[in-house]
Amino acid sequence: MRFPLSMTAGIAGYIMKNKLRPRPEWQKDAAPKENGSNPFRIIHHTRPGNGVAHHPMIRKRFPLVLMLEPLHACNLTCTGCGRIREYEDTITRKLSLEQCLGAVDECGAPVVSICGGEPLRYPDIGKLCAGILARGRHIYLCTNAMLVRKRLHEFKPDPRFFINVHLDGLEESHDIAVERKGVFQEAIEAIRTAKAAGFKVTTNTTVYKETDMNEIERLFEYLEQFDVDGHMLSPAYGYSAVNDREIFLTREDVREKFRHIDRLARRFRLVTTPTYLDFLQGGRDLPCTAWGNPTYNTMGWKGPCYLITDGHYKTFEEFMTRTPWESYGRGNDPRCEHCMTHCGYEPSAALGINGKPGDNWKLLSWVLQR
Ligand code: SF4
Ligand code: SF4
Repeated sequence: MRFPLSMTAGIAGYIMKNKLRPRPEWQKDAAPKENGSNPFRIIHHTRPGNGVAHHPMIRKRFPLVLMLEPLHACNLTCTGCGRIREYEDTITRKLSLEQCLGAVDECGAPVVSICGGEPLRYPDIGKLCAGILARGRHIYLCTNAMLVRKRLHEFKPDPRFFINVHLDGLEESHDIAVERKGVFQEAIEAIRTAKAAGFKVTTNTTVYKETDMNEIERLFEYLEQFDVDGHMLSPAYGYSAVNDREIFLTREDVREKFRHIDRLARRFRLVTTPTYLDFLQGGRDLPCTAWGNPTYNTMGWKGPCYLITDGHYKTFEEFMTRTPWESYGRGNDPRCEHCMTHCGYEPSAALGINGKPGDNWKLLSWVLQR
């Protein structure tokens, strides 16, 4: 099976419970803040009341994956990284262990993706992961792998704990993307060591304009020898914090890049739902459900999403109730126009929005696939 049965059943139960009994206060639409000086200002042509029918799940907001950023400091300077640029002024700050675990409790999402910055530079990362696992949550520890071998002794293998290694291509391309030679080889050694020690390991690949999808196929072929537990794939998106827009994709580019993704999905363990892949190929439209992937960092709860920052909220409750969700997504905000990233749309896929006959069967086959 692609995921442990307990993980699949737990997440399915959580989704069902929240679909049946969504928190009423999270379903109200906050009034948008107008700011005429903002060059990306929101245009409200799908505001409620103008005849646009919303999918019922849009009114069942709840978090699925918490993106927890204990710090933004990193030991690399990747070309496409928005974090180290957006949070340059606060890059030396760290959340305390109590703040991190408090955010996990406050949010309640069944999956926690620990990212950053480089989370393995966080002093209490071992204690943080142990605390999250003790709360019955699942972890993806997203890392560039430079410190995996040094700090692996601080963790214990667990079926709910995945070390998610950033790999944007084979050796030459990856080292160019992360702007340092030798990073690919260190990542491979980290994967080998973690797998030998009994850890679950996945890889995370961002697809940029210059990404050659045949190379990604060769990368997955190469990784087969290490029995990697899955591969995440998501198109890059050029949000405002990253200046070099040349490397990012339009919606048309994304559809072209993912045109033959079915072949990869049949051959390899993609940790990406079939519905989201169908969306990336242009087979269906999905609305943005950014509330499904909330981000917490040293500035607070980042709204509306992992990509755009229009505000930081002190509490998760404020984030859910004060973010004007209806103002975001394609057609509502020009910044969202070409966004097809997993943080905005994978929750929509997981929630069954714009579902098609046969989706449930495809999802079940995907979950059961080894
Ligand atoms: S490893 Fe991650 S956090 Fe560090 S610079 Fe690269 S993308 Fe940014
Ligand atoms: S579409 Fe959603 S996830 Fe993408 S940038 Fe807009 S609000 Fe964020």
